[in-house]
Amino acid sequence: MKSSSFSIFRDGYLCVMIKVYLAKKISRRVVEGHPWIFSNEVDRVEGEVKGGETVTVFTHDNKFIGTGYINPRSQIMVRLLTRNRNEVIDEEFFYKRILQSWEYRKKIGYTENCRLVFGEADSLPQLIIDKFNDYFVIQTLALGIDVWKPAIVNALNKIFDPKGIYERNDVPVREVEGMSQQKGFLSAPFDTNIIIKENGLKFNVDIENGQKTGYFLDQQDNRKAIQHIVKGANVLGAFTYTGTFEIHAAHYGAKSVIGFDISENAVQQANKNAALNGLEDICKFQTANAFDILKQWSKEEKKFDVVMLDPPAFTKSRETIQKAVAGYKEINLRGMKLIEPGGFLVTSSCTSLVNAELFLHTIEMAAKDAKRKLRQVCFQAQAPDHPIVRTIENTLYLKFLIVEVQ
Ligand code: SAH
Repeated sequence: MKSSSFSIFRDGYLCVMIKVYLAKKISRRVVEGHPWIFSNEVDRVEGEVKGGETVTVFTHDNKFIGTGYINPRSQIMVRLLTRNRNEVIDEEFFYKRILQSWEYRKKIGYTENCRLVFGEADSLPQLIIDKFNDYFVIQTLALGIDVWKPAIVNALNKIFDPKGIYERNDVPVREVEGMSQQKGFLSAPFDTNIIIKENGLKFNVDIENGQKTGYFLDQQDNRKAIQHIVKGANVLGAFTYTGTFEIHAAHYGAKSVIGFDISENAVQQANKNAALNGLEDICKFQTANAFDILKQWSKEEKKFDVVMLDPPAFTKSRETIQKAVAGYKEINLRGMKLIEPGGFLVTSSCTSLVNAELFLHTIEMAAKDAKRKLRQVCFQAQAPDHPIVRTIENTLYLKFLIVEVQ
């Protein structure tokens, strides 16, 4: 074996792996264990690269860093899959990693419906797998993970005996990686309208056409966190999607619940979900722009005991963080104005670029403008089946706050 090439045996063949050498100054991020390597951190690549291949990464002076996958057209040129020199990236590797992710979910008590694989936090960069009981929804968001889709599907079949597997790769970020957006079956076709159970309630999930993977599992514990504050309350929910928070409120004893979403399809699903749980008399949903409704109703001095806000991410780029903050301030300010003294605001942010400190500060600024005082009931993140790894900053993205509004 030549000393300049790093070779492995795969399926009986000797493969010469492409070597990536980092620039002399290595970022703290990489040293601390973050799996991303940006193109401007690379000094040179030895070997011809098309994209999606497995590569080994070394320091400028030839010290092994890890093995990962490469895409030269992406700004994030390499994403590391392992820092263990002896680990080979093959079908067995993906089986083992997915099995480890499952063992971890079982240990922490998230089994029926859970995010089975949360990308970087499970050392499987850009792979998302949501488990809805016997059904699985997959996203492969980078070329280097997409090429392993057959291995990933085989692993799921081996571990779970699924009733169905579906690909929701209709995500714009794939185009940055030079891939098309697509969705479809990765198993025999099945009815993609399924029903899942959460906190004793039933919800329709539209795997094929719902938002993201069809359902927001990350809020499952936060939905439970409203159980005491909604008893006997008149509740307003904005950005409701399929009505999950609102239906929980009705289930936990709210007197009346009204929910809004801009998507007509979401509102239809929400009404269907209310009926599925026999809560359609308490829980009503309407199609509306939440910004308009909150503004109009606060002008009309309408009052509620509890206001719940769960907007989509307001930005994905650093350039527009201030605009996102302004959006959060506006909806929370208007929301607070609608709350009876001693009522509660339930507010979320899934914009990872708006960190916890900035989010809390924004809520305080809104309270100042609304001339209201706040008392924190709880502040938490996404459910633990979306693990947080402190050295990988995007893994902490959801902020969920309940405050009493005096
Ligand atoms: N609370 C939901 C998730 C909400 S996702 C759950 O736990 O499942 C955010 C929702 O906001 C989406 O359904 C989207 O259609 C809706 N939305 C986006 N912009 C909106 C606007 N201006 N007014 C009302 N709804 C909006």
